[in-house]
Order: sequence, then structure tokens, then C-alpha cells
Amino acid sequence: MLLTVSTTHRPATDLGFLLEKNPARSQSFDLAYGMGHVFYPEVSEDRCTACLLLEIDPVGLVRGKGRGQDTAPHTQYVNDRPYVASSFLSVALAQVFSSALKGKSRQRPDLAKTPIPLEANLAALPASGGEEMIRRLFEPLGYEVEVTGQALDERFPDWGTSPYFDVQLRGKCTLSQLLSHLYVLIPVLDDAKHYFVSGDELKKLLDKGGDWLPEHPERALITRRYLKHRRDLTREALAQLEGAPETALEESDSSKRQAESKLEQPLGLNDLRIKAVVGALKEAGASSVIDLGCGDGKVLRALMEDHSFQKITGMDVSYGSLEYAKKRLRLDELPPRQRQRIDLIQGSLTYRDSRFSGHEAACLVEVIEHLDSERLAALEQVVFEFASPPRVLVTTPNIEYNTHFHSLKNRELRHADHRFEWTRAEFRAWAERVAEKFGYQVSLAPIGPDDGVTGPPTQMGVFKK
Ligand code: SAH
Repeated sequence: MLLTVSTTHRPATDLGFLLEKNPARSQSFDLAYGMGHVFYPEVSEDRCTACLLLEIDPVGLVRGKGRGQDTAPHTQYVNDRPYVASSFLSVALAQVFSSALKGKSRQRPDLAKTPIPLEANLAALPASGGEEMIRRLFEPLGYEVEVTGQALDERFPDWGTSPYFDVQLRGKCTLSQLLSHLYVLIPVLDDAKHYFVSGDELKKLLDKGGDWLPEHPERALITRRYLKHRRDLTREALAQLEGAPETALEESDSSKRQAESKLEQPLGLNDLRIKAVVGALKEAGASSVIDLGCGDGKVLRALMEDHSFQKITGMDVSYGSLEYAKKRLRLDELPPRQRQRIDLIQGSLTYRDSRFSGHEAACLVEVIEHLDSERLAALEQVVFEFASPPRVLVTTPNIEYNTHFHSLKNRELRHADHRFEWTRAEFRAWAERVAEKFGYQVSLAPIGPDDGVTGPPTQMGVFKK
């Protein structure tokens, strides 16, 4: 498979500095799935072209890390991977042109940040959705796109066209932008399920797409396909990408949030919950607290009002909520000493993060029920094993209480984004298992009125090491 990148920026030979590959010699790289070769078929002051040729070893593919999930024995060996521009090309790009992809160049740092005329040619790009999809993905990024289809077999025109296309992109952008567009969109077009998607892919997508994906009209499709249709990861990625407060937050998040609070409002449940959490934190004597999944900062506000909490950190996956929290807490207007008491950080409860460590207590207030059950194990490890604060508070709705909410239809949950709601027994079983596994002791406490039958509306687990 073949990718060429050309520029007519003068002197065009600067492309060599941008790619950090000398135009005067060809170089080969050992990749996990075969070899990559970089050479320049065209070098002049006016126009320079670099070529990345990928030789995939189909046998190594089966033995090595790139093993697909296909189980039929022949599909492991007989497939299109060695011949087309697929995710392996992205992997090669990231390895062979890593500094260019990051927008770095030792010898031409300014040029690396400057939009220049660039052209990329991809041979045999498999495109699910065909020419139209290729255009939908690249044109909004400002490229002039030329697509050449190929007959499935030239001897038999009746067989129609093949799903492979030669694609030429022409535009003015930085080299790092071009490479990051290719890095993300090649596997998106391919849409194959040839490699296992881990949480890592989400990080890579946010890393390479963070600058342009939020604005892309097809961001949902791109995210879904890139993450191989894993709904949980897609939702998480979109929450991070669409965090812009004015759109995502004002329209969807806040109206959803209101639906929940309206239901619980007559009980004053929010205040009761905050009182219970702050009370338990004070009782623990914690002076530094991290609020994991802080949302728009209701708990943070209560913590700020109490001076026994000297260091407060709010963490959420959604930029939008954090922006909103920042406004709501008027962080920009606080005097410096107060401002220093609080930090807001963006992160995810399902990835190990050193910033979650070193706090005397952590709280997760109405958060766990927002995660797909299969991601809970990751959260447990991140919070209880890696961050491992001496005290952890977890609150979550008690589903048995829902019969009191007459507007909820049969088995409907309290919030559109809740993935589950637990009975008291389910919460107890979870809490006791987690405590046992990670070396904590847990006690459970009710929050809100308890009628003796359904139990209270919300339940809290207090974990102590
Ligand atoms: N604790 C707040 C908000 C509860 S809503 C309060 O009591 O008001 C749940 C919050 O969890 C949302 O803000 C959501 O963005 C956040 N969240 C969901 N999944 C997350 C994850 N994987 N990592 C971090 N935060 C997450």
C-alpha cells in the first residue's frame, strides 16, 4: 500500500525537514506487521513528494499482535490487508512520521505550524459508503477531493465496481493536520473489524482528532466507526468532544439534568444528598477532597463554603459540565487564596490517572449509574486500587423507591442517561464485594425519607481503609 505526500511550498525540499526524513536517501522501518519504506520519487525546489510504502507480512499478521477476530482459518491468511490502505497505514504513519504528526520539526519548527499547499494520494483505499463517504469525510476539512473508482475485475465489467478507491486530496493546511486527518479517517473509511478496540483507541482518537473533530459535521459517524461501533466508548468520546458549553450543555445535558432534578425536587433530595456527603467528609476529617464526576459543581459549591476543606478538586469527563461549573462557581472572580483551593480537571473514571491520587477523600455522587455496567470494573480499579484514598463515598439511586415517582412509567429509570439503578440489596452486594476486594470496610447509609417498605430514595456507601 502506498501513500504519497507532496508540497509545492518553496523550497519544497523543506518537506524533508517536516517529515524528518532526508529526501536524499530511502529508509526502511521495521513495523509490527511488516516493513515501511520512505523515499522521495520527486525532489525539487518547486515540488517535492515523499512516499510511504507499506509491506505487510500476511503471515506475521496472523501470528503477531495484529491478529483479527475472524475465526475462519482462511480469512486469517487470505484477506485484503496486505494490499489496501487500512488501519495499518495509520499505525505506520504514527510510527514513521511521529514528530510530523505531532506538529513538531527540529529544523523547521515554524513551518510545521504553518498551513502550506499539500497533496496526498492514497492508493487502494477501501471505503465503506463509497465515493460519497470519502467526500463527506474529507470535504468539510477543506480538501479538494478527487476519487477514482476501480472495476472489480476489468475483464468482467458486469461485476461492477470494487470497494477500493484511489483518492487524491488537495488543500492548504499544516502537515500535522493532514497526517492527523489521514490517521483517523483511513480506518474510519475502511470500517473493518480487524483489530481489537481498547480504551487506548479512545485516547488516540481524542489526541489526533481533538482539534478538528468537534467541528466536523460527521463527528458522530467518525467516532462510532473509529471505535468500531463500541457504544460505550463512542458515548464517552462524544461527551468529551461535544463538551462545548453553549451547544451540548445548554441544549441536551442541562435539560436532561433538569428532568432528574424536577422528579426529585419535591423531596429536596439534592440538598439532602449534599448534606449527607459533606457531613460524612467532615466526619472523616478530610481536608482534601476530589469529587469524581462533579458535573456542574453542586457538591463543589458546598465544599467551597466550608473552610475545613482546604484543597478541592472537581473531575468530570465532560468539558461542557466543567465549563458550566467554572461559571457557576465564579472561579474567575475569586480572590487568589480562594481560587487556589479549587482545581477542575477533565478525565475519565475508567482510565488510571495519577491526578486522582493523593486526596484524603473521594466522592462519587450519583455517578456510577451513568457508566455501562461492563465499565464498572475499570472504575472500581481506578478509584479503589489506583487512586486509593483513605475514604470513598458513593451515592446512587435506590430503584425500589421509584414507585413513589408517579410520572415514571413501568420500570423506567429516573434519568435518560442512567444505565442501571440498583435495589438496596444490589448496592449492598456491590459495595461489599468492592470493599473486600480492595481492602476497605464499608457501611451503608440511607439518604432521604424511608417509608420502611421501599427504603430511601438514595443510598450512600462510606468506604474506609
Ligand atoms: N456529581 C454530580 C453530577 C452527577 S451526574 C452531582 O451530584 O450533581 C453524573 C456525572 O458523571 C456527569 O457529569 C457525567 O459527565 C459524569 N461522568 C459520566 N461518566 C464518566 C466517566 N467515565 N468519567 C468521569 N465522569 C463521568
